[in-house]
Amino acid sequence: MNGRVAVVTGGTGTIGNEICKHLAAMSCRVIALCRPRAVDCRTAEWMEARKNEGYDMEALECDVTDFGHTSTVFGDIARRYGGVDILVNAAGITSDATLRKMTVEQWQSVVRTNLDGVFNATRCVIEGMLDRGFGRVINISSVNGQKGQFGQANYAASKAGIHGFTMSVAREVAKKGVTVNTVSPGYIESPMIMAVPEEHRAKILAEIPVGRFGRPSEVARVVAFLADEESGFITGADISINGGQHMG
Ligand code: NDP
Repeated sequence: MNGRVAVVTGGTGTIGNEICKHLAAMSCRVIALCRPRAVDCRTAEWMEARKNEGYDMEALECDVTDFGHTSTVFGDIARRYGGVDILVNAAGITSDATLRKMTVEQWQSVVRTNLDGVFNATRCVIEGMLDRGFGRVINISSVNGQKGQFGQANYAASKAGIHGFTMSVAREVAKKGVTVNTVSPGYIESPMIMAVPEEHRAKILAEIPVGRFGRPSEVARVVAFLADEESGFITGADISINGGQHMG
């Protein structure tokens, strides 16, 4: 994978961060994207922290809900590095409420980030991948997109939508060396799961046959496997990594 250019949306997040490290360990040139912040300079802080760990990676601000902004950032990456070989769509948010209480804003913010964001970033790289005859698109969905979850109609719909997107695009690009896959994590040790009330978290844990939450590095291993040049016969797949919580 020497020198392959990998972009990870949400790359500065808990799971995204591990994905970046795994791709860097495969000798990819890694660029992490995160949400633009008006005040704190998150990208510089993230790059410094990774440098101290021995990784040479870049972080850029990119709001994946905004197609214009996303195009500008990917255009800049293409000019500097000659194109993107691997795209991991890991940017995602939750905004939970039962449907009776869910506001239009909650619905739209989640769908815009989790589903429009996947379209926006993938649309920006797919042409270049087809032209170069190689590409890996890996979309991070969720077990809750596979089975639904109380209070997460917006999140589950956005994550289920990712799989339909994945299978459709996979068919469109399959003959040109480009694979498109989904990875669906179950509950992973992260601030997202720590935000779930303690009592509810204990119930979730009881549903996981392996008896623990997953680790971000375990998700990253699956992503790295799909990103590999030798994984060209896997496309349109949805790979579950959930400790047995949801089978089938
Ligand atoms: P984090 O909140 O740690 O990371 C999410 C990342 O998405 C952050 O880097 C965040 O940037 C970025 N992001 C959010 N909105 C935007 C936006 N509009 N434009 C660009 N970037 C944005 O979450 P996790 O690492 O836990 O989750 C990563 C992915 O895995 C998500 O898609 C999530 O849905 C999925 N997932 C997580 C599970 C879990 O248990 N944690 C389980 C199943 C799936 P910033 O930090 O700057 O806000």
